[in-house]
Amino acid sequence: MCSRRNFLFRLVGILLTAAVVPGVVSAAPAPVFSGERAMALLEYQCGLGPRIPGTSGHRALQDTLMATADRPGWEVRRGCFTTADPLLGGDMEVCNLVVVIPGAGGGPALWLGAHYDTRPLCDMDPDPAKQGLPLPGANDGASGVAILWHLMELADGNPPPRDLVLMFFDGEDSGRPGDPESFGLGSAHLAQNWGTFGSLLPPDRPRGMILLDMVGDAHLSIPMEAYSLAHAEDWTREVFARAEALGLPAFTARRGPAVYDDHIPFLRRGIPAVDLIDFDYPAWHTSGDVPVACSAASLAQVGALVTDLAYHP
Ligand SMILES: [Zn+2]
Repeated sequence: MCSRRNFLFRLVGILLTAAVVPGVVSAAPAPVFSGERAMALLEYQCGLGPRIPGTSGHRALQDTLMATADRPGWEVRRGCFTTADPLLGGDMEVCNLVVVIPGAGGGPALWLGAHYDTRPLCDMDPDPAKQGLPLPGANDGASGVAILWHLMELADGNPPPRDLVLMFFDGEDSGRPGDPESFGLGSAHLAQNWGTFGSLLPPDRPRGMILLDMVGDAHLSIPMEAYSLAHAEDWTREVFARAEALGLPAFTARRGPAVYDDHIPFLRRGIPAVDLIDFDYPAWHTSGDVPVACSAASLAQVGALVTDLAYHP
């Protein structure tokens, strides 16, 4: 039997207990992700021109991301290496950036990644005269970076409960068609060196890794990428279940195509990794990959998902 008086005592007891339990950090409210702000950051990147390794636009974006991450208590790490350029020949310098945002509590970190380089050629353009042009890279490059960039802005002064590790991959899109391993050079280097001396990545195992690639399509529909589902099924389903709980219609919990992408080297290291990608994008590797093919509403959905996962682990 529970009298009203007893109930009140118990309620007060529960509230007091919650207030004094050691280690319970009063959770800061999750910030609200702005699709409009992310869209402005996407347009800004495109305004820099192509972000091909070795170009001024690439260097400017790298500098701006590092300056954005230069906040008290945060760690910004840059790791460069020289490798053969698979598409254009010669050598190229590839520079990954890793930003560690310390959480307010403990527990395994969430790793989020996106590639910030853009493809040197529009080799899939239907117009042969445009196939030698550099890719504008609005969706293929800038969309994922815009979301991580805005997340940095939101986390400044409002730390998530657990560490957040943001990986800006370089050398993703200079690969030769038909040769998947010639793509994703930066992520491969980062993942292969995880746990070694001088690694840019923290040594502890993360809760999981989420890759954002081509997430800005105005007609966004993200299925469960097949390699993610095959090799990190629990994590993939957890991420998509969160999207469903949040009521985000761009995510459909069905098996999609297999895409060789920056998550593969992490799957090979045994890290649960999911690639959020909408590969049904007619402007892929064409001169049509420009901001008008993307939308703030699409970025808002992906941003809302990763923000929720970061703030409500
Ligand atoms: Zn690409």
